[in-house]
Amino acid sequence: MNTYFPFTPHAFRYELHKEMHLSAAHFIPAESAGKCQRIHGHTYQIDLMIVGDELDANGFLIDFKLLKSIVHDRYDHTLLNEHPEFRVLHPTTEVMAKTIYTFIQEYLDGTSNKPSCLQVIVRETPTSYVVYRPKK
Ligand SMILES: [Zn+2]
Repeated sequence: MNTYFPFTPHAFRYELHKEMHLSAAHFIPAESAGKCQRIHGHTYQIDLMIVGDELDANGFLIDFKLLKSIVHDRYDHTLLNEHPEFRVLHPTTEVMAKTIYTFIQEYLDGTSNKPSCLQVIVRETPTSYVVYRPKK
């Protein structure tokens, strides 16, 4: 993947990116969504940006594999609308980015070195992507 990373300034010692692809279907049940009301699929490209000052006892900021499994195991080859987190707000690119952030940060909060997720990028098509950054 040759992804463009928007620049996010910070003062942490370590900055880690985990990119992944996942295939999933969705639909947006709103009249204003036009043809996106019909079920269709995307190969999503996701980039997680994790920062921190401290490593864990194994020398990791966070294990790349763990980051992938949190997102990929949940959503790959699924219909996104069937997940409970997308019952209230539809699985738009924006809502996906925010939701992925929430799951990742929840996991990071339980680790010994407590890194932070500073940015989640969800690319839905080659020309459309969303960047989500939590507010402090
Ligand atoms: Zn779509």
